[in-house]
Amino acid sequence: MAYRKLRLILGDQLNHQHSWFDDKDPETLYVMMEMLSETNYVAHHIQKVVGFFLAMRQFAQELEEKGYEVLYWQLDHKENKQSVPDNIKYLVDKFNIESFEYLLPDEYRLDQQLKTLADDLNIPVTAYDTEHFLTKREGVEEFFAGKKRLIMEYFYRRVRTDYDLLMESDGKTPLTGQWNYDHSNRKKYPKKIDVPKTKKFERDASEIVELIESFDIKTIGRIPDKVFDYPISRAEALEALEDFNDSRLIHFGDYQDAMSETERLGYHSRISFALNVKLITPLEVVQSSIAHWHKHSDEIDISQIEGFVRQIVGWREYMRGMYWLQMPELEEKNYFDHQAKLPDHYWDGNTKMNCMANAINQSLDMAYAHHIQRLMVTGNFALLLGVHPDAVDAWYLGIYIDAIQWVEITNTRCMSQFADGGKVATKPYVSSANYIHKMSDYCNNCHYDRKKKYGDKACPFNSLFWDFYDRNASQLKHIGRINMMMGTWNKMESSEREKILQQAAEYKANADEL
Ligand code: FAD
Ligand code: SF4
Repeated sequence: MAYRKLRLILGDQLNHQHSWFDDKDPETLYVMMEMLSETNYVAHHIQKVVGFFLAMRQFAQELEEKGYEVLYWQLDHKENKQSVPDNIKYLVDKFNIESFEYLLPDEYRLDQQLKTLADDLNIPVTAYDTEHFLTKREGVEEFFAGKKRLIMEYFYRRVRTDYDLLMESDGKTPLTGQWNYDHSNRKKYPKKIDVPKTKKFERDASEIVELIESFDIKTIGRIPDKVFDYPISRAEALEALEDFNDSRLIHFGDYQDAMSETERLGYHSRISFALNVKLITPLEVVQSSIAHWHKHSDEIDISQIEGFVRQIVGWREYMRGMYWLQMPELEEKNYFDHQAKLPDHYWDGNTKMNCMANAINQSLDMAYAHHIQRLMVTGNFALLLGVHPDAVDAWYLGIYIDAIQWVEITNTRCMSQFADGGKVATKPYVSSANYIHKMSDYCNNCHYDRKKKYGDKACPFNSLFWDFYDRNASQLKHIGRINMMMGTWNKMESSEREKILQQAAEYKANADEL
């Protein structure tokens, strides 16, 4: 077969509904490739690599079944040069290709790579939108042009209005007159709760695991029994969404921030992987959940659906805009000049801190932790300890199945580590044991004493919390929302403060042993 046009599809561009597929042209070759450049730029969780390869292979197979011309190179294909530019140059030559087209990557690194490749190729090159997001790359920048504060809430309201999501018939007023129910999304689980189980998509992944091992790819985490359990096709992604609507939307908002030793997934949707590889679009997700809510609005409170819609059309779109607004400088931000290393237990879960052991071991087992575990346990601890944001980023970018830089770095470096100095977060997300105890059952079963700030078995979060305020006082003084906390610290007896700081110093010096 002679091909004239080559179209590249990256591993997170699995959008079956893209307008590229409106026509079938036998002279257009769709190219998909597993490459070491993508498996090795950070140490990924084994399930993340498996998930990407499985979803890509499934997508290629479905395209072929629909009659498109597809070239799919597995990692061990003999012609695979293991990077996008090398492979594309080789294929352009091999097939005498007359034009090259690609979908705009969501990651700065690949965006740059493809721009350079376009300059190097001596044929016409065209880049297309992925047709996935509700807003443009420049959406945040344009919306807040000339404004000092880039507050997510206002961006979210604009998206809701533009797409008529949970709006009154006038198209301007939010349903019930209220935009946001965040205040009612903060419940702890009751003592006895029976969270409906998440639908399973288990499949044997031994073949891909063996392939990864044969290339000596450095991975992290575990894949128990080599069984992979995330949706990998569009049909499965839609099933996962339906399962969430049917069984967990009802309490999504209520228990969004709750954590428990016995409930790893809670009422969360677990659709971030399917969304981030674009098997489903954010608009169809929220429209489907809103339709479900309308049908069941006598039993599902509006706060549940509003909380879910806010995460997807608010936070997710906003983070993407903040990424393109701040890259590439964002990769260098370190507002507090934190320099500590990430403690060893982030890699093996071997810690006496029960909250950390739970969040980390769950992440190692499942490549998943929900938002509050990421923000208020592992992220909180790294910030209190003063870990360098590069190390924190590398961990988050590697460990989660949904981690792609545009949504990882904005959540990690900006929201969780405050390394951008407060563009995304209005105050640093730090807490002592009080918050963790309020929102979880972790402290009940911990080696450490959540009530103690210093002394035998004092909870590390407590002394490190005050140490954080003390050591960063000058960088924090302009943030009105923390005045009360600073006041409390400043009013403490100096002997008490000394003991706390000494305890924190001991813990910082021995962070690997905690
Ligand atoms: P649910 O709780 O069911 O939420 C529904 C959907 O809303 C998610 O699937 C996701 O698409 C979206 N969403 C929710 N919160 C956010 C947010 N803050 N930013 C963007 N989208 C959001 N999310 C990623 O997709 N990739 C990441 O690499 C990532 N890294 C994170 C790192 C840190 C330190 C923190 C605090 C959060 C991070 N998040 C990341 C956001 C969030 O934790 C995950 O999207 C969520 O846990 C995925 O699980 P879920 O599908 O069950 O989400
Ligand atoms: Fe975590 Fe401290 Fe509670 Fe233990 S006591 S679970 S270390 S917050």
